[in-house]
Amino acid sequence: MEEIILDAYGKINLALDVLYKRNDGYHEIDSVMQQIDLKDTLILKKRDNGISIESNEKSIPLDERNLAYKAWRKLTDKAKINKGVDITIIKRIPVAAGLAGGSTDAAAVLKGLNILWGLNLSQEELMEIGREIGADVPFCIFGGTARAKGIGERLERIKGFSNKLILLVNIGVEVPTEYVYKSLGLNNKNMAVNVEELVKYIERDNLRKVAENMGNVLESVVIRDYPIIDEIKKEMVESGALGALMSGSGPTVFGIFDDESKLYSCKEKMEAKYKKVIVTKTI
Ligand code: ATP
Repeated sequence: MEEIILDAYGKINLALDVLYKRNDGYHEIDSVMQQIDLKDTLILKKRDNGISIESNEKSIPLDERNLAYKAWRKLTDKAKINKGVDITIIKRIPVAAGLAGGSTDAAAVLKGLNILWGLNLSQEELMEIGREIGADVPFCIFGGTARAKGIGERLERIKGFSNKLILLVNIGVEVPTEYVYKSLGLNNKNMAVNVEELVKYIERDNLRKVAENMGNVLESVVIRDYPIIDEIKKEMVESGALGALMSGSGPTVFGIFDDESKLYSCKEKMEAKYKKVIVTKTI
């Protein structure tokens, strides 16, 4: 096999609670992560050594700062091999948007090179390597619906929550994850998320209750800088979403719908005002 083409799916957080800051500087979280069918496509082609990255997305770095590059570097170090790859990233997931766009590309490179180079690493081994690249990379390898603890790497599968209608609204500004965590004052956290309760409703497939119990403690930080996020959430619910929430460190807002016609009429309203409006579904 000379070449492999991979789907790299994005994610939303149905819940995100930040518990405390650890001594190593990372934050301990309790989260529910959900893969969505909005995806980048990666084409990996064998070459003797070295790496090249190209992309249709002009705002991402194509050098060692790209998470796909970091994935290649980590894998060659860990497996102690000297092989190269040409990577094409067709980007559809908005960048620095709370949708794990960079992490999922890194996950796809790890999975793809494992196959292309016949390394036979297990999913657990790939997730272990992924963790050193970024906190969301293990989930992007794991996929589906999962409760994520630790820095996001301790994953427990939650029974299927696929095919739920989702509308994403992105205001077109990049919000760096690091900035949001740094700005979060954990002492005066004014909102806790009942993740336990949410998981129960997901397992019962009670969409209305899921929508009611979603929560993200990072919202307040981003809303302080971009009050429009709160507006979008309200507008979505007024137009028929069962619930709406900011995903991850934002600024993307997602709405959950149980009715396709409501979803599309909401989409139309949102498109008149906001930069990127995307219909997707959970997988
Ligand atoms: P998350 O939901 O996990 O926060 P995200 O991709 O939405 O992920 P960031 O963690 O803030 O957001 O990462 C985006 C940053 O990473 C941007 O500054 C971008 O330039 C950089 N980056 C590096 N490689 C990639 C890539 N392959 N795709 C997207 N962004 C990348």
